Amino acid sequence: MTLNPTGALVLFSGGQDSATCLAWALDRFERVETVGFDYGQRHGVELEARKSVRAMIAAEFPQWRGRLGEDRVVDVRSFGAIGETAMTAERSIEIDARGLPTTFVPGRNLVFLTYAAAVADRRDLAHLVGGMCETDFSGYPDCRRQTMDAMEQALRLGMDRPFAIDTPLMKLTKAETWALAKQLGGEPLIEIILEHSHTCYLGDRAQRHAYGYGCGRCPACELRSQGWDAWISAGRPAMAA
Ligand code: ZN
Repeated sequence: MTLNPTGALVLFSGGQDSATCLAWALDRFERVETVGFDYGQRHGVELEARKSVRAMIAAEFPQWRGRLGEDRVVDVRSFGAIGETAMTAERSIEIDARGLPTTFVPGRNLVFLTYAAAVADRRDLAHLVGGMCETDFSGYPDCRRQTMDAMEQALRLGMDRPFAIDTPLMKLTKAETWALAKQLGGEPLIEIILEHSHTCYLGDRAQRHAYGYGCGRCPACELRSQGWDAWISAGRPAMAA
């Protein structure tokens, strides 16, 4: 496959989805950089996971190592303070009157994409890659493709750059996301995601399950665990290339 020379910036949280997106981008683009957001998460576990996933991918995949460029973490704590949700404040995870989980930070992806586009402009990268997904719908309106299309248009107009927002996981189930990871990097990539990525909302790294680390009870753990079980039941397939 011919590599895309325009470059990609991956919105990289260190979770299963964005780790798969990073591999997806490294498989396609000559240059790939990563950006993360510190919005005052209750735990620094996610930010640690980002470093180890990047380091392990560079160590295990020589063909991707040279394409993997800089990483930066943008401080958006003032935005996190506005949200005051279960992600940042000491509130339990529950469903609010709109039917949205309290883990929802209003407009979070819109803010992240705007910051990411500003970074991409400076770094001369044309594609923004994110793990937004509407299949395992958990009530996040800023994860829908329709929202991404509108955002893409707004960024193109507002920054006068032909940005593309790539969302390779948009139509995939969590089981299919594992299948995509296997297609991209085989069992070594699966092992990196299991051992080094972090998805649990509570930041639990004490308990290792078949699907990776986590508390095993929060919505993120439930989703990850169900996806893993479904992929295992299907016989650990790789997605057709
Ligand atoms: Zn959890």
